[in-house]
Amino acid sequence: MLAPGSTIGILGGGQLGRMTALAAARLGYKCHIFTPEDDAPASQVSARTTKADYTDREALARFAAAVDVITFEFENIPAEAAEALVAAGRPVHPAPSVLRIAQDRLREKDFLRSIDVATANYREVGSIAALRRAVRDIGPLSVLKTVRLGYDGKGQVLIGPDTDLEAAWSKMGADVGILEAFVDFGCEISVIVARAESGAAAAYPPVENKHVDHILDTTIAPARITPELAMRAEAIARHVAEKLGIVGVLAVEMFVTPKGEVLVNELAPRPHNSGHWTIDACQTSQFEQLVRAVCGLPLGSPEPHSDAVMKNLIGADVEKWREWLTDPAAKLHLYGKREARPGRKMGHVTRVVPRR
Ligand code: AMP
Repeated sequence: MLAPGSTIGILGGGQLGRMTALAAARLGYKCHIFTPEDDAPASQVSARTTKADYTDREALARFAAAVDVITFEFENIPAEAAEALVAAGRPVHPAPSVLRIAQDRLREKDFLRSIDVATANYREVGSIAALRRAVRDIGPLSVLKTVRLGYDGKGQVLIGPDTDLEAAWSKMGADVGILEAFVDFGCEISVIVARAESGAAAAYPPVENKHVDHILDTTIAPARITPELAMRAEAIARHVAEKLGIVGVLAVEMFVTPKGEVLVNELAPRPHNSGHWTIDACQTSQFEQLVRAVCGLPLGSPEPHSDAVMKNLIGADVEKWREWLTDPAAKLHLYGKREARPGRKMGHVTRVVPRR
């Protein structure tokens, strides 16, 4: 166990790192951020920052020597960086092997299939000829995605019966892709589960996610689904966490079909945007759970004390920050980003309704 006073190293300097560092500070830990960015949101609230590229081996070695445990706040850091840190003798949670699965959509879906978790039907496509074959196999409506470095809908192309496949292939813009059947879902939900080294796990109730332009817009907690579906979704998330052997926090994004099937879309081995509501509405936030898990502390209770609706403040939305301050039910979170570019997550606001 790492006692309070120890230093947690975080790869990545975005808002997830920032909110993890704030939770860590409350428990008496220090954070050291590793990021290539200047004035990163996480750096603004942390004791130290190493500003370097993720491929800078010397900087990684210095960082490893300066911290007690390491985690990451986004999954697109090179797995080699995480492996180098393990080789330097520092524990990295979640393990680099988990990162390798989560940062590759094909490996992720193959893994899910290997543990009997249902996903949309999919095919690997490495050429335009393979894409044509895959479209024939999967059916007329599908989504072509890059295998790596895709998030918030980047590198995704919707394919219909009239789509020009050559154009779709070049629009995707990578050498390898995955073609997934389009899921005509009733709703999108996610479950966040924290898991400790002992195997103990704590899951939050499923929440409902609304996307606009592929970016999460609103999370409704809890999801408006039947208790039976909620139990199934939670069981899937626990099963995936257990099979990954993850130490940390895992978000499992799922589609619920009109027939009541639950299909896993994506895994994120880190705190997730759809878990931000836990800061203001649960006994223990997803960020505190990450700190507890990586430091070997007992996990906290995930129990909600309030229902919540979380709205992302994207791009120019953030200009209305003053209005949220006058809403007594609203908790405003701003990430300290200077430039409000379109599509950029600038903050979020959670409206809470106490359960009792
Ligand atoms: P992803 O980057 O895979 O999380 O996808 C972003 C969003 O695109 C999802 O949350 C869905 O709203 C939508 N989407 C992705 N894959 C599919 C699919 N196979 N069928 C229908 N919608 C999808």
